[in-house]
Amino acid sequence: MNTICPFCSLEHSPVVFASGNGFAAIYNISPILPGHSLVVPYQHVTSLFELTEGEISEFFSFARDITAFLCEAFESEAYDWSLQEGLEAGQSISHLHLHIIPRKQGDLADNGDWYGLLQQSVDPENRDRIRLSETEHAAITERLKGLRNRN
Ligand SMILES: [Zn+2]
Repeated sequence: MNTICPFCSLEHSPVVFASGNGFAAIYNISPILPGHSLVVPYQHVTSLFELTEGEISEFFSFARDITAFLCEAFESEAYDWSLQEGLEAGQSISHLHLHIIPRKQGDLADNGDWYGLLQQSVDPENRDRIRLSETEHAAITERLKGLRNRN
């Protein structure tokens, strides 16, 4: 456990809208598009290479389940995944996390714009970045928990 890591305190946290075996799904506080969420292991690992074969299997199976759930909740038929590993690749928080971004036709001017937005959304120097208030974030999380429990 790393006390300054924002993803190390997710166990029993109200921000988690779904839990898999060892993994949490949370709504991004700086969503680049509606539905933009993260899948994060509860344990502090930096890299996919630190996961066992069993954990890798859980990770992808849970991420696929959450992707299907988000695409339904946000009425999307497509999605982008992004996993950035290492500073050179744009990893902003050194705790493994997968971005899941539901997509719709016409949601961005250019289909590839999501990557630039993703980089801007974590840049503290970028004053235009979208950042939800805690109240907005909690409302979306509660809505997702409700939908999740209905299934
Ligand atoms: Zn951590």
